[in-house]
Formats: sequence, C-alpha cells, structure tokens
Amino acid sequence: MRIVLMGPPGAGKGTQAVVIAEQLSIPHISTGDIFRANLKEGTPLGLEAKKYMEAGEYVPDSVTNGMVADRLSQPDAERGFLLDGYPRTVDQVHALNAILAESDLTLDRVVEITANTDEVVARLLNRAKEQGRADDTEEVIRRRMEVYAEQTAPLTEVYGRQGVLVQVDGMGSVDEVSGRILAALRR
Ligand code: AMP
Repeated sequence: MRIVLMGPPGAGKGTQAVVIAEQLSIPHISTGDIFRANLKEGTPLGLEAKKYMEAGEYVPDSVTNGMVADRLSQPDAERGFLLDGYPRTVDQVHALNAILAESDLTLDRVVEITANTDEVVARLLNRAKEQGRADDTEEVIRRRMEVYAEQTAPLTEVYGRQGVLVQVDGMGSVDEVSGRILAALRR
C-alpha cells in the first residue's frame, strides 16, 4: 500500500505513522525525521533546513521534493510506504504525483487525522517539556498551526476530489486511533 498520513501538528501523526507502518510492514518515511537526522549530523541539508524548522516554517520545496524522490527510489519503498508529513503543499502534491507516475504508480489512500486545536496545542507544549524539541515553543507551535491551515489543509480538498481521502478522528488513546486508521484503510 502507498499511503500518506496527514494532520495538524500535535494530532499524533508521528506516533500513528510508526504503528501503522509496522502493522502493514511498509517503511515509515517521515520528512521531519529525515530533516532532524540531517540536523543532528550537521549535513548541508540539515543546515539548510534548520532555519525554517526553528521558525515553524516549511523547508522550501526545492530541498524537500528532491529528498523525497531520493528516499522513494530506495528498494524498500518498492513494496509500498507510509509517508508522514509529506506532501504538505499543493506543489508537493504535484511533485509526488510526478515521482509516482514515473513508475506508473498512484497513492492508495490519504489519511487525515483530525484534532481539536486547543487539545493539540496542550499536547505540543507537553511534548516540548518532555522532549525539548527546538520547534516546540508556544510561539513556534502557533506558527506551525497557521502554516498547516494555510498551506496543508487545502490538500484535503485535492485528495478528496481524487477519491483517496479518508478522515479519522485523532482524539482518543493511541490504540483507539490506530484501530480507526486501520479500519479506514481496509474500507
Ligand atoms: P514534522 O516532524 O513532520 O512535524 O516536521 C518538522 C518540521 O520539518 C516542519 O515544521 C518543517 O519545518 C519541516 N518539514 C517536514 N516535512 C516537511 C515538508 N513536507 N515540507 C516542508 N517542510 C517540512
């Protein structure tokens, strides 16, 4: 299966992505994780991404699309994948379609995890305390929510028109939500 998982910051996307990819035995590909790994290693890609991530902005498509094309060309992605946090802009949707079209492939499903904004901000502030992520200050969290609403929420319309979108309520325990996602993928 070729799946995209999307949802506002703090909706539990990363946690669910790990669970679902494991259940379906497909690689979990998180652009955020790839950027963080590059940041940690101090690669040129990491240095480029840093300033955007720390401000809660999106890393430019010129950097992100190439990185994803490269990752999807790895052999483990041949049997399917779960993309977590990509695409996030309408241009990235087109870039992903083009990458897949080269191998005559399309997406099977796009899952949007929906969440209540107040609860999500509280979750993120809690995670900031626990994990100390540099992009989890309140100001940056609010900016990330705005950027999601402006640039990523419109993707649901695009994927809705394509008939691949399923929406899943992200409120509840990890098991409850992953159960809903797996049920939605089976439908
Ligand atoms: P995430 O872990 O998915 O929340 O991503 C953390 C940060 O990495 C985001 O706030 C962006 O700065 C950057 N990032 C991750 N994925 C993308 C993407 N598809 N396009 C642009 N920036 C991204």
